[in-house]
Amino acid sequence: MPRPRRSGPRCRAGTAFAIGDIEATIISDGLLDLGSANAQFPAAPPEDIARIMAEEFLPVDPMMLEQNALVLNINQRVVLFDSGMGSDQLFGDKAGRLIRNLAAAGIAPEQVDDIVLTHAHCDHCWGMVGDGGALNFPNAQVHISQADFEFWTDEAKLSAEGFLPTFVKGARRNLMPYRDRMLFVTDGQEVLPGVTAISTPGHTMGHMSYAISSGNESFLNVGDVVHHTALLFQNPTWEFAFDSDPKLAAQTRVRLFDMASADETRMIGYHFPFPGLGHIRREGDAFDYVPIPMTHG
Ligand SMILES: [Zn+2]
Repeated sequence: MPRPRRSGPRCRAGTAFAIGDIEATIISDGLLDLGSANAQFPAAPPEDIARIMAEEFLPVDPMMLEQNALVLNINQRVVLFDSGMGSDQLFGDKAGRLIRNLAAAGIAPEQVDDIVLTHAHCDHCWGMVGDGGALNFPNAQVHISQADFEFWTDEAKLSAEGFLPTFVKGARRNLMPYRDRMLFVTDGQEVLPGVTAISTPGHTMGHMSYAISSGNESFLNVGDVVHHTALLFQNPTWEFAFDSDPKLAAQTRVRLFDMASADETRMIGYHFPFPGLGHIRREGDAFDYVPIPMTHG
């Protein structure tokens, strides 16, 4: 006889969990292949990178990052944080799985009422428009900071050096079709009931984190304030190759780590090991990442 299935949002198997009255689920967009960690942290001592990765039983090359998209059900309103990489294989062929994994969790793209973006990099907003140009989330309102929207859709950057033109082209393709249903998020604003934007600039100039609270429970969705848990928790001032302002990104990271370690903040990290829920613990001048075990029921 099958065991009776306990019902309710707290008891769904897999990555579902509750934040007070808010039902939360983490949906993976798959993995990003960033190549060598030495290239992503160009100013960091290669011997330190090699030692830390060995301690974590991880290769230096390729450095892989998860992509954990948070989905909330707030009073029957379906809210998706970041949209994944889409079909582009700029960072390998293991990304772009969000729509498929949403379906596996019983969530159709048409059901998504809001997309809340932390920032406008490829792995966060290139999943919004399909290959044929149709909207992947035809009923969604989009929330993003004005600074990030304007920076990453700026046509003048299409002739810039480095990765900027590729990123701007992709952001324009994925964001402009939603322009008439876009709301700009500001620091401290309650974007949706229980969801408050917190400005965390540096990785991009308009980068936003989001505090989610209901009843006595809360999580902080940190976005890309921190990417690699093994490297950056131990070395929060290391500069990441894709930071718009690496010094400001490091300051923001240290500020957030100080606050989150003191307050025992429960964090959700887009690039943390799946499903990306964890605490931060102070270890002298450095920090340590402590995953929250996923429990069922
Ligand atoms: Zn990212």
